[in-house]
Amino acid sequence: MKKNGTDFDAAVIGGGLGGLAAGALLARRGYKVFLAERNETVGGNASVVRRGGYSFERALHQVYGLGSPGTPSAALLKEIGVDRKVEFIKLPAFMEVVFPGLRFTFPADSGELEAALCRRFPAERAAIIRMLDQGRSLYQMDRLMKFGSWKDRLKDCANPAAELRHALNSAAMMRYFRSPFSDYCREHFRDPELTAILGGPWIYLGVPPSRASAMMMVAMMGAYTVEKTFYIRGGSSSLSEALADSITARGGTVRTCAPVRQILAGAGGAKGIMLEDGTRVDARCVVSNAPARLTFNGLLAPGSVPAPYLERLRSMTTSVSALHLLIGAELDLGRLDKPPVYATSCYAGLDHDENYRLTLKGGAGSFGLCFHSLADPSQAPRGCSSLAAITMAPWRGRAYWKKNRAAQADRLLGLAEGVLPGLRRKVREMEIFDPAAIEARTGVDSGAIYGWENNIGQTLFDRLPQAAPVRGLFLSGQWTCPGSGMTMAIQSGGTAARLAAEYMGPPEKKR
Ligand SMILES: Cc1cc2nc3c(=O)[nH]c(=O)nc-3n(C[C@H](O)[C@H](O)[C@H](O)COP(=O)(O)OP(=O)(O)OC[C@H]3O[C@@H](n4cnc5c(N)ncnc54)[C@H](O)[C@@H]3O)c2cc1C
Repeated sequence: MKKNGTDFDAAVIGGGLGGLAAGALLARRGYKVFLAERNETVGGNASVVRRGGYSFERALHQVYGLGSPGTPSAALLKEIGVDRKVEFIKLPAFMEVVFPGLRFTFPADSGELEAALCRRFPAERAAIIRMLDQGRSLYQMDRLMKFGSWKDRLKDCANPAAELRHALNSAAMMRYFRSPFSDYCREHFRDPELTAILGGPWIYLGVPPSRASAMMMVAMMGAYTVEKTFYIRGGSSSLSEALADSITARGGTVRTCAPVRQILAGAGGAKGIMLEDGTRVDARCVVSNAPARLTFNGLLAPGSVPAPYLERLRSMTTSVSALHLLIGAELDLGRLDKPPVYATSCYAGLDHDENYRLTLKGGAGSFGLCFHSLADPSQAPRGCSSLAAITMAPWRGRAYWKKNRAAQADRLLGLAEGVLPGLRRKVREMEIFDPAAIEARTGVDSGAIYGWENNIGQTLFDRLPQAAPVRGLFLSGQWTCPGSGMTMAIQSGGTAARLAAEYMGPPEKKR
């Protein structure tokens, strides 16, 4: 035992889903874990605020894959042992996109999506089927990761013909990895309405189709419709808390209100962390789920990180932020004549570049609504609803948001009323998460909602690898490959834990 009574295998910085998944998998595999989270609750973005009988999500609208047995993310939750402790509620549609005079619901099923698009755009049938088939092949990010070993996969898989088709499809799509989705659409589709509909999910990446990787957009459509999308019963905190509990149940420590001040690193690499209150936690390795620039420029001593790596971090761009209104309304959505689709996104026009430009200028270019209590009525008192309205927003500084948050929130509420007339009169509780509040919660400077911007050049393999350029230091979460979003943060935590376990060797049986 060391001076402060700390002696761990792994010290994890940050209790977002990336850190929790890494810590929980290490604990499951027999390592002793210490996880430090700066906030009073774990989860980071994956957490709820409770007020007046309503439960409000800080971020979660929907996740893909976690509730579909056999997907890489569900398999990870199963290995950790939380798959039965959390209930995932399957959503019938992954989103509705609404343009002036045009709307389309994306069913959360690949076959149904194909049928719906082909019915609507029969002249584009062949290209639609090809794109969705490519999406089905690409959807499992681990397929991409293991692309080089497809010959091995063919040897032992149950359906070699399907696997070969996936491999060939993935190979065909690789050439679109660094091409914008807008170019892909121009090459394959003629109808501008179809192109606008297919581009609608850009809001889940935070960049318009002209800046998003075509491969990523097609893979995302595959992921959402093959692995399905879910809300989490009781809110995202249920998952975060279950992961934290699985660390403590296996002898680990999860400490909240415990900001980390420093990563202890010497010639031999990372060997622990120092908390703000001076507590020293010695460990054989460190996993950081904290923002990437904070990890390397703030927590490590100057000189411990190779200059080219720091230069790479400097050259990368962080994602856009958001204005997020969490609304408790005395309105029974389920009893409306035509209840809204759980996740609805509205755009000013068919041109998503223009929608994006208008949005960042503070106009009505695009905004989304998510009706949490439609999926889980326990999120609101009986007969009432918990919902969220969101629009991308640039940073603009804390002072700007302090002065303008109420007016901007009112403007967004006005847009939401376009979808739910009379909403304003029904509002009973409201939380406003502006970029400054998002920054305060996660420690991500400028309130970036997706870590690095998901532009071409910062997607998937172009994000940071889990192995950091400091021995014994591993990264987990949205700053790393495969990318942003809760499912990917969890997968990244799994990879970080596997690398950390390899680095440490088998856990000691008895301390
Ligand atoms: C408004 C909004 C809506 C979103 N909607 C969705 C959605 O519908 N579906 C989806 O899948 N994704 C969504 N996302 C994205 C998703 O929430 C994130 O990509 C994901 O949760 C990131 O997880 P993480 O573990 O990487 O980081 P975080 O959740 O940011 O966790 C990092 C943790 O590290 C802690 N930390 C930082 N510094 C320190 C320190 N020095 N010491 C100790 N702890 C520290 C932070 O407090 C935080 O808890 C949304 C995000 C936002 C903001």
